[in-house]
Amino acid sequence: MQLLSLTLDGFKSFAHKTTIKFEEGMTGIVGPNGSGKSNIIEAIRWVMGEQSARHLRGDKMADVIFNGSTDRAPLNRALVSITFDNSDHYLASNFTELTITRKLYRNGDSEYLINGQKVRLKDIVDLFIDSGLGRESFSIISQGRIEAVFNGKPADRRAIIEAVAGVAKYRKNKETAEKR
Ligand code: ATP
Ligand code: MG
Repeated sequence: MQLLSLTLDGFKSFAHKTTIKFEEGMTGIVGPNGSGKSNIIEAIRWVMGEQSARHLRGDKMADVIFNGSTDRAPLNRALVSITFDNSDHYLASNFTELTITRKLYRNGDSEYLINGQKVRLKDIVDLFIDSGLGRESFSIISQGRIEAVFNGKPADRRAIIEAVAGVAKYRKNKETAEKR
């Protein structure tokens, strides 16, 4: 499984549609302060299902939509797409290439798509569960998160270890079964 590309369109500072291709050998993104490096990482978290506006440095989810600059009016919609090569079927899908898209409109309407087909958030979460990716994974460590791990309550640290060990799926299935 390999990250192939990321498209941002109306997401945070990316008013213009921008596609980043992650070609072999690419190891970093550099740029001046405020140029949008963290916004790119947040776009990755967001498209994989992040539900906390706070984790994306916002107060409400609509804060991810481009809110205007001196020479451009605010936009009405944010869109992010991420494409993976899944020819090894590392992600739980029969597709050999997977494009996941998330859209959010100012009126609160939102959409998730897998290869152009409308899906539920649950389908996105299930796709990434136990893959080491996804909204609560530790493949993306934002500033301040390491401290939170060290200073966290034992129960929170246990949740992290469970996520890393890949048992989150079984806990979730158990909880669903118990609710029935
Ligand atoms: P640093 O090197 O300081 O970490 P960075 O490259 O990570 O900087 P970001 O934090 O990704 O920069 O980008 C911050 C910029 O994004 C700010 O100029 C901020 O105004 C802009 N920004 C954030 N949200 C929006 C939005 N909804 N609409 C327009 N611009 C936004
Ligand atoms: Mg930054």
